[in-house]
Amino acid sequence: MRDVKLFIGGEFVDATGGGSFTAVSTYAIRPVATLAEAGAGDIDLAVTAARDAFDGWAGMGPVARRRILMRVADGIETRLDELAEWETRDMGKPISEARKKDMPRCAANVRFFAEYAEHASTRTFDRPWEGVLTYELREPLGVVAAISPWNFPLMLLTWKVAPALAFGCTVVAKPAEQSPITASILAEICADAGMPPGVFNVVQGFGPGAAGEAMTSHPGVDAITFTGESNTGRAIMANAASGLKRLSFEMGGKSANIVMADCDMDVAVTGALQGIFTNQGEVCLAGSRLLVERPIYEEFVARLVDGAAKWRVGNPLDPATQIGPMVSPEHMDKVLSYIELAQDEGAKLLLGGHRVTEGDLAAGNYVAPTIFVDADNSMQACQDEIFGPVEMVMPFDDVDDAIAIANQSRYGLAGMVWTTNLATANKVAHQVKTGTMWVNCFFVRDLRAPFGGYKDSGIGREGGDYSHDFFTESKAVVMKFPT
Ligand code: NAD
Repeated sequence: MRDVKLFIGGEFVDATGGGSFTAVSTYAIRPVATLAEAGAGDIDLAVTAARDAFDGWAGMGPVARRRILMRVADGIETRLDELAEWETRDMGKPISEARKKDMPRCAANVRFFAEYAEHASTRTFDRPWEGVLTYELREPLGVVAAISPWNFPLMLLTWKVAPALAFGCTVVAKPAEQSPITASILAEICADAGMPPGVFNVVQGFGPGAAGEAMTSHPGVDAITFTGESNTGRAIMANAASGLKRLSFEMGGKSANIVMADCDMDVAVTGALQGIFTNQGEVCLAGSRLLVERPIYEEFVARLVDGAAKWRVGNPLDPATQIGPMVSPEHMDKVLSYIELAQDEGAKLLLGGHRVTEGDLAAGNYVAPTIFVDADNSMQACQDEIFGPVEMVMPFDDVDDAIAIANQSRYGLAGMVWTTNLATANKVAHQVKTGTMWVNCFFVRDLRAPFGGYKDSGIGREGGDYSHDFFTESKAVVMKFPT
């Protein structure tokens, strides 16, 4: 059992109201940590600490901030195994993923933005014929509330915190209540790296009527960067409205994975499997609607089912495991209820469709890799985000049909197309309304590129210059010269 306190003003402290809650593991439903639960008073202390630290941190400049942030990245790497193990205990992702992908990417996020902030440029607007030169200054915005979800806990938190800190903001961060521990370890790493007190604060607790809501309505918060469900985004936006806070939202998805008949079938099958079963399907970007062109439909489905049956469900701490448990019993029940709904709606179940209860797995929240075929895009199971290892497969007639189906969704976060025809890839990329379109790949990310969603999937973009824009104020300086 770990004892996790709040990190406010550089100190690890109990909640002022004495509140606490328990984190449970996903594979054996037993407590792994006791956490201080922040109330409105604690949020006030954290925001005040961040405000007090702001001028010093903003005034330090990007080079001095980079030195500290590089030590944070080193600290993440030094404690990588410990971080990976807690991430896995907390939310159930396979330890191999946590070790090889998530945690290295946390360190990379910090390094990237620490460097980027030093080299970020601003624009000039020159009108020499009038003797006017206008140039843009960028100044750190202020105090940022960073609220993150449980599916990639530290990876997504560092995606927010690293640019905020690098561009000179101070931060109050709240990880999801289901996966709170690694954010607290990050606080230790920041303190060890010599980050001044109050620059980075971590509060623990829940959303509605609790810590999250207190953060998003606090008058001392200038901006909110949030990743989570679209309905949570709506609640946060309403709550933040009176304070006119700047908002960046990364939300849900139900992405279309389009497989053209001219694809390289081996690559596409592997990509489709990774697209839905990575992180046991608890991925906002998951290609959870699989659209396959009719001429290869039967063969593709057969190979998909064959491949999926080989994905190993097991204890997430076992390095051989590929599919871990769902984050909580409630979430497992939600996924299972969507499986029932898909059957009621007439989709044909070809694989899985049940809880896994063999041996020790009976104690955890495991759902078998599940494939439905002959689905119709109008089904609720094709429209709602299930957020588990459940693939809805449907055929299409031609590329225009695939694009139309892809766009029949309230989401627009990501998409994939598998084809050897560049013109087809280009058409899909242009016409599907989505924040990212992967061509013959999945999950590849260049941190300079825009990341975010259309429609209910997001507001704003993260990455490189997009983060620079979000975490800074822009000022126009207009200079007049004699002509
Ligand atoms: P969630 O919306 O339930 O919770 C996310 C965070 O918001 C948590 O920290 C929670 O405590 C907090 N929160 C909840 N209600 C709040 C409120 N009223 N005020 C302030 N804070 C509040 O989401 P989740 O279940 O943790 O995560 C899964 C969701 O996140 C899925 O919809 C998934 O698609 C989405 N997601 C999106 C991306 C992306 O980049 N677009 C990435 C990962 C996850």
